[in-house]
Amino acid sequence: MMHLSDEVGILKGVGPKKEARLNAMGIRTIEDLVHHYPRDYEDRRTPVAIADLTVGKSQLVCGFVKDVYKSPYRRGKQLTKITITDGMNLLGIVYFNAPYVANNLKVGEEYYFYGKVGENRGQKQMAHPEFAKGIEGLVPVYPLTKGIGQNDLRKYEKAAMPAISEVEEILPPAVTEGKNLCTLAEALRNIHFPEDEDGLNDARKRIIYDELFTMQLGLLMMKRGKVSGKAHKADENIFIDSLPYKLTDAQARAAGEICRDIASDMAMNRLLQGDVGSGKTVVAEVAMYKVVKSGAQAAFMAPTDLLMKQHYENMTRDFAPHGITVGYLSGRMSAAEKRDTLERLAAGEIDIIVGTHALIQEGVEFDNLGLVITDEQHRFGVNQRMTLKGKGAEPDILVMTATPIPRTLAVVFYGDLDVSVIDELPPGRMPIDTHYYSDRRRMEIYKRLTSQLDAGRQVYVVCPLIEESDALECRSATGVYEELSDFYRGRSVALLHGEMKQDEKDEVMERFAAGEIDVLVSTVVIEVGIDVANATVMIIENAERFGLAQLHQLRGRVGRGSHQSYCMLILGSGSDVAVQRAKVLAESTDGFYIAEKDLDLRGPGEVFGTRQHGIPDNHLTDMISHIDIMEELRVTAMEVLSDDPALEKPENAAVRRRVQALFSGDTTINL
Ligand code: ADP
Ligand code: MG
Repeated sequence: MMHLSDEVGILKGVGPKKEARLNAMGIRTIEDLVHHYPRDYEDRRTPVAIADLTVGKSQLVCGFVKDVYKSPYRRGKQLTKITITDGMNLLGIVYFNAPYVANNLKVGEEYYFYGKVGENRGQKQMAHPEFAKGIEGLVPVYPLTKGIGQNDLRKYEKAAMPAISEVEEILPPAVTEGKNLCTLAEALRNIHFPEDEDGLNDARKRIIYDELFTMQLGLLMMKRGKVSGKAHKADENIFIDSLPYKLTDAQARAAGEICRDIASDMAMNRLLQGDVGSGKTVVAEVAMYKVVKSGAQAAFMAPTDLLMKQHYENMTRDFAPHGITVGYLSGRMSAAEKRDTLERLAAGEIDIIVGTHALIQEGVEFDNLGLVITDEQHRFGVNQRMTLKGKGAEPDILVMTATPIPRTLAVVFYGDLDVSVIDELPPGRMPIDTHYYSDRRRMEIYKRLTSQLDAGRQVYVVCPLIEESDALECRSATGVYEELSDFYRGRSVALLHGEMKQDEKDEVMERFAAGEIDVLVSTVVIEVGIDVANATVMIIENAERFGLAQLHQLRGRVGRGSHQSYCMLILGSGSDVAVQRAKVLAESTDGFYIAEKDLDLRGPGEVFGTRQHGIPDNHLTDMISHIDIMEELRVTAMEVLSDDPALEKPENAAVRRRVQALFSGDTTINL
């Protein structure tokens, strides 16, 4: 008898290799396996008559095998041609190099074939359909990984079904009462091998409850944090007073909330939201100052090398007067430099370390890590954030993002965090004048560009591609660079793209920041964070190829100083969506508004990308459409945790395993 707690290796056909692959997908036990849900189903219930088959569709057909014919084709490989009939018409079916097929299909017998209908010399044909003796019904389609095929998983899931009788309910009865939900065991059976649509719908509903509850429990456990035992109480006002400008009210409020968390003995888990240019960095500096002056270290993680360098330079400058040592770690530094930095970090000689992903690698050790800050968090998964956190004993965590999240979604994505918002720009900023143009009006754009250059300002031109491509009708950075170099002979035009060497990129950016370059033509490498106050024009070529949030980020590169700035979107195609997006951008500079529009236009899956929270992608949209259930389950989850904060009671063992599985790899939920 198979048990839920057994490892998947006990399944027939799962050897060490397949087991390793399944483990890599997060499937270790039979319990994990039965919670790996199909992403879709193939309808293999009603066969289609041969005459009615549609080329290009995957369909089920039923017929008697008329003949099986094997012929060699090319170097000992074999082609198996089968003809079937449904009594009215004939259909050809082919398999390449699959001799076992001929052995399993008997002439004169009836089979069901499911596959994509193709065409060969004007005749409908199926290549490599799956076949069975009887009707299979709704057949699950699973998310896969390399080395594990659809049929493997179907076989494993089928074999695991008997163990489902051991599944325990994880929802407290209070939640299920009056909701007409089926049992979890029934739901699991039906989600894998549904009897019919009704059964599938019931299963989905029940499983949504299961997943949302598990997720909310996990998020709450992370949010609650733990007693860090380290209250960092140094006075941050000395640093704030040393700044060349006054904090905006919004910055001061956010800094106050953060410093209150830092001074308490509970670990901080906070999200700092603020539009591009709202001045998040200095708020982060205030927090780091407080922690460092209290005797601990801070780590600041940036998404790109370029940004990391810029932060490193700014922080070195801002902290030098306070006797705080800043270091950096990059995947690109020499081995010797890296070793030296790591040693000084471990010895506590570096107070603040700025870095990219290099910060979360093994071998990075701190003397006393008290604060972890991640910038532009949407680029880091929750697990990466947590890996860094794991390098300290309950450090405070601050996550910064320029992608504002509508409140409802914040429950999904940042349910583990408290939120501070900077909803105000530093004084003196003028709204960026934004317009969109068709390619025909290019001369108008160059006219404005020229007048800005004459006034001493600098210009960004962003293109979707590095090189011309035959496949895509798009302006390329290289092409535009050559064109503009020619057009503006007396001026300094430079090119920047992702395939350049790091030192070359750094050099170009440094020269741009120093005002030595007038026009910078680039790909989206400059997307985030780069700060050059004298740059006033952002031209985006083929703006239809960028997402709304990305366009808003790009636009945020200008308008950082006291000069009027311009954003010009050039649309290569006048498609409805492209114009709609350009309009949204032209009419608003409010990141929240833009984020909501982006969500409307693209849907949550697109906007937030993959696996932000260990939430399976295919369930994301589902979850967001069940926001009301989620809010209800959040309350239930709070009640459960107030009774059993670490889920240690025996009756919570099952739910505890589910939370662990969903947040696998997470070091902060100490289960
Ligand atoms: P973001 O929130 O996009 O990361 P930054 O932190 O890069 O924004 O800040 C943008 C610019 O605004 C920087 O040049 C910064 O020095 C400046 N800045 C930040 N706060 C203020 C303020 N209160 N007054 C004036 N300028 C400020
Ligand atoms: Mg920033």
